[in-house]
Order: sequence, then C-alpha cells, then structure tokens
Amino acid sequence: MSQRSNATDKKLKQAIDARMAVESARKHQVDVLCDFTAKLSLSCKGLDIELDNRLAKFRSALNKGMSFENLAPLISETLVLLKKQESIQQAQQRNLYNSVQSAGKQLQKTKGLPDDTRRTLRNLLDHEINNVHSTHGYIPLLDQLISFYHEALLTKQDPQVDQQRPVKQARAKKLLELANELILEEEATLQINNIKNNITESDSIDSLLDVAISIIDVVVKNISKERKSAQSFLVSLNQTLEDLHNSIVSTSKHSESMEVEFDSLNKSIELKIKNLNEQTQKATSISSLKELVDNELKSISEDFIAKEKLERKDREMLSASFGQINNRIGTLEGKLTTYKKRLNEQRFKSLLDGLTKLPNRAAFDERYSHEMHLFNVQPSDVTLAVIDVDHFKSINDRFGHTAGDITLQVISKALQKSVRKSDFIARYGGEEFVLLMPGVSLENATLPLDKVRKVIKNIPFKFREKQIEITISVGATQFKKGDTLLKAFDRADDALYEAKNSGRDRLCTSK
Ligand code: GH3
Ligand code: MG
Ligand code: MG
Repeated sequence: MSQRSNATDKKLKQAIDARMAVESARKHQVDVLCDFTAKLSLSCKGLDIELDNRLAKFRSALNKGMSFENLAPLISETLVLLKKQESIQQAQQRNLYNSVQSAGKQLQKTKGLPDDTRRTLRNLLDHEINNVHSTHGYIPLLDQLISFYHEALLTKQDPQVDQQRPVKQARAKKLLELANELILEEEATLQINNIKNNITESDSIDSLLDVAISIIDVVVKNISKERKSAQSFLVSLNQTLEDLHNSIVSTSKHSESMEVEFDSLNKSIELKIKNLNEQTQKATSISSLKELVDNELKSISEDFIAKEKLERKDREMLSASFGQINNRIGTLEGKLTTYKKRLNEQRFKSLLDGLTKLPNRAAFDERYSHEMHLFNVQPSDVTLAVIDVDHFKSINDRFGHTAGDITLQVISKALQKSVRKSDFIARYGGEEFVLLMPGVSLENATLPLDKVRKVIKNIPFKFREKQIEITISVGATQFKKGDTLLKAFDRADDALYEAKNSGRDRLCTSK
C-alpha cells in the first residue's frame, strides 16, 4: 500500500509539475502576445480617436488577463475600425500621389532650374512615385521635392542680390529724394508727387526702378517742354531785334531821301526868293511888280505846301514804324515778365528743402554769408546754432525710413514754430539743422535754444503703439571779430560734438 501510494504520489507530482510547466509556458506566451499587441496598438495611436479608445480598452483587457471569449467582441470591433483605417490610408495615398504630381509639374514649369534637377524630377514623377505603396513611402519623395523647391527658390533669388537689397533700396530712395529737389513746373511736380504717393515700403526693387523710370520720364518731358518754351522766347526776341534793326535802317534811309527832297525844296525856295528880290529891283511899273510878286509868291507857297506835305508824310512814317516796334517790344516785355516770375518761383523753390519745406543748405549758405558780411561791416550780436537729432539712425532701423521721414517733417515743423520770426532756421542736411539768430547774443540765446530742445523732447511721438521720446543736441556760438564762415561754423560744430559726447539731449556753447 505504501509502495503504491508512493508511486501514485510521484506520478501526481510529475503531473502537477508538467501542468505547471505548461501553464508557465502559456503565461509567458500570453505575456509576449500582450506586450506585442500593446506595442502594436500603441504604434497605431493617433490615426483615429475611436480606434485609439478601442485599442486602449483592448490593452487594459489584455493586462487584466481577460478570457478570449471576453476579448473576442473587442477584437472584432477593432478589426472593423482597422479596416476603415485601411481605406482612409488608401485615400490619403491617392491624395499624396496627386499632390506630389501637381507640385512636381508646377516646378517643371519654372525657369532656371538646373538640368540635373530637372532630370531627377522627371524620373521621380514618371517612375519612382509609381513604386510607392505606403504613406511612409512618400516621405523620401516629399523630402526630395522640397529640396528641388529650395533650389528653384535659390536660383530665383540670387544670394548676392539679397545681400545688396538694402543698398539698392537706399539708392532707389536717394533717387526719389533727388526727385524732391527737382524744380519743375506745377503740372510735372503734381505728376511726380502722384507717382511717389503710390510707393509703399514693401515695394520691390523692380517696382522702385519702375517708379524711377516714370519720374525720369516726367522730368525729361518737362525739360524738353521748358527748352521749347525757351527756344520760342529766343526766337521771338531775335525777331524783335531784327524788326528793330530793319526799322532803324529803313527810317534812316527814308530820312536820307527826305533830306535830299527837303534840300532841293529849300534850295528852290531860296532861289525863288533871291529871284524875286532881283526881279523887284528891276521892275519898272507897279503892275509888272504886282504880277511878278503874285507869280513868285504863288510858286513859293506851292513849295511851302509841298514841304509841309513832305514833313507830314515823314512824321506819319516814323510814327507807324515806331508803333510797330512798340507793339513788338510790348509782346516781348510780356514774355519777359512771365519768365522773370518763373525764374523767381524757381529760385524760391530751389532754396526750399523738398522733404521738410524748410530753407535748405543753399538758402542757409546765402543767408549765413550775408549775416557774416553785415557783421564784418558793423559788428553786432549774431548767434549760430547747429542742431542734430540724437540717435536718429535707430528710428530708421526700428521703424523704417518712411517713419524717419515723417519724424523729420514733424521735428522741422516744431523747430520752425518755436524759433522767432527774426531767426533763420534751415535743414542743413540729413537730420541736422542750423539756426541763425541775428541781434541775439550767445548769452541771450541759451534760454530760447534750450526751450527749443525741450519742445522737441516733449513731442509725443508714437510708433507702432509705442511712445518714443526724440531728443536733439545743440551746439551754439556767437560771431566774433576776425571770424570767417568756416571758423564760426566749426566753433558751433565743436560745441555740438561736446553736447553729443557729454550725453546728448543738451545745449553746449562755445565762445
Ligand atoms: P547721433 O546721436 O550720434 O547723431 O546718432 P545718429 O544716429 O543720429 O547719427 P548718424 O549720423 O549715425 O545717423 C544719421 C542717420 O540719419 C543716418 C541716416 O540714415 C538718417 N537720415 C539722414 N537723412 C535722412 C532722411 O532724409 N530721411 C530719413 N528717414 N533718414 C535720414
Ligand atoms: Mg548727424
Ligand atoms: Mg544724429
């Protein structure tokens, strides 16, 4: 009994061991399968929310060790969703195919693509794309297509050109500024302003060049019009002079011939009087004397009438000829007045700065030397101030050149308003201004100059919703004995330099 029981125990133990081994092997297999399914389901994550939820449920069921019977409905639901996903993917692949084809074809149409790239692109569109059978397979093709696009962009936009863009823009800007300084007749000025008003900051170099060409066109037309009008004036002047000359010649010729006639009439009258005298001496009777006097007097009076007629004709001719010349000169005078007026207008305009409408440097130079001349003839108090906007470059850099231009206009207006009538303010160039204060000593100038500085500082500039304070530095000096234009200016400039170096936004003076 005990022997049989031993054997049975052994068999049972063996059976239990075997069973445990099978169970452990199965558990390992299920674990591997769970892990695999979980990883697989994670790799599908993100394709579709419903599928994500279903797979998450499936993973948690697996982890909990649910029976196959319980897992089965989850599996079939997931399979339906996976099937749906498959058709979505196919549609996406078709879309990708179409997108790559259309992007590629578009690229083929662009000019300047290197031959190599063109060839590779053709191969990609005709062959490679047909060997792709998965969404992932499109990734290298898209990568390549993007690099082709890059290349096409680079050939279109030469890096050198890109680098020079600011330089070219500055040049185009300069061209437009020069156009401001042109003095043309009103119609042309209006045309140029219209052209310039249509320019925007974002304009490309090409369109700025087009603008420049249009401006040059207006200028050339205006110059040729001006030239024609000048020519017609000269022709008319010439004609008048010629008429005058002819008139003088013919008058003098006429006078010569008149003189001959007058001479002969005078001689004839003289002769007749002499004759009458002689005859009266010889007269023997009253009646013969009477007859003689009657006849001779009649003849003399006829001569006098002829002389008078001749004189009247002469006067009439002269007056007609003078009348003609007068008319011509009148016309010429009219033209001359118009010309003078235009010249004056041009002179006035040529002394104004186009941007700020303040007197320009030429106007300042003229006034400055006039004041210096007066000072040298009779010394008086004259203060000269040089004004420079602080850190103006940064306004351009941060907010653009147009904002810079407008700032200069606002500052100019404020400067003009805050100086006295007897002062003379001009835009010297760029962001520099000069102020002449005749009759004001340097000592008396410091207060008003500092007031000007404060006025500018207090202008509430706003750029892109940001409040910006703009300041100026001022250097001032007073004319003194032995000064030249250069010496006085250098002194004011030195004072400005000192104002800049000692922190800007201040007035410095130099005696
Ligand atoms: P500082 O305080 O030392 O004077 O500095 P700043 O930046 O004002 O001086 P800088 O001389 O370095 O720069 C002057 C700038 O003014 C450079 C130029 O671009 C600008 N500028 C000159 N004229 C004009 C103009 O007509 N319009 C505009 N928008 N900017 C101008
Ligand atoms: Mg400057
Ligand atoms: Mg400056």
